[in-house]
Amino acid sequence: GLDITWAVDWVRQSAQVISEHRVELLTLDREIGDGDHGENMDRGFQAVLPKLDDLSAGSTPGDVLKLVATTLISTVGGAAGPLYGTAYLKAAAAAGDAVALDGPAIAAILAAGRDGVVARGKAESGDKTMVDAWTPAVEAAEAAAADGMDAAGVLAAAATAAEAGAVATEPLIARKGRASYLGERSVGHRDPGAESSALLLRAAADTAA
Ligand code: ADP
Ligand code: MG
Ligand code: MG
Repeated sequence: GLDITWAVDWVRQSAQVISEHRVELLTLDREIGDGDHGENMDRGFQAVLPKLDDLSAGSTPGDVLKLVATTLISTVGGAAGPLYGTAYLKAAAAAGDAVALDGPAIAAILAAGRDGVVARGKAESGDKTMVDAWTPAVEAAEAAAADGMDAAGVLAAAATAAEAGAVATEPLIARKGRASYLGERSVGHRDPGAESSALLLRAAADTAA
């Protein structure tokens, strides 16, 4: 199963990937939002990095998820800060005090994170938000876990589905968040939050492989 080492590696890899894609994310958000998503996410993940050193010896993956949640809530701002904060908080609760996470645990954690985003933001599938990356990811993760895949396999399936889900936001009309102000003019652009969600899930899979 995936342990504290994986969780810490995932956060470090997340910070690196978000920083590498900062311009891409803010460009997507400039097209259908206010152009700050790359900045917001980069600020949040850079703020987590030094806090990883404060984790105690007996820390669990759930503790890492909680640390990410509280940091994102206090540093990211905008729509995405509370949404991602809630996702990581619910994921942490689902992880509980487990020391290692197997395939079904990973699927349950992703489902809890997605449910957190939906509870907080009230978006449905097809509203052109990060939910459109999360929901196919959860469905793929649950199917992979039911097929007996290990945690790394479950994350790989989730990441691939999230990437497809992010691409599939391009033809949609935004119905939630700032992009919804554009109505039909939001068509033809990828949702930035769906893209950042796919990047974070790919980072999770890469660090598990
Ligand atoms: P802001 O729009 O406040 O500037 P960000 O640019 O950081 O915040 O984040 C925008 C992203 O937040 C969108 O691309 C979308 O994925 C996500 N988002 C916005 N509103 C919602 C919502 N109600 N439910 C789910 N996701 C949402
Ligand atoms: Mg924005
Ligand atoms: Mg903003």
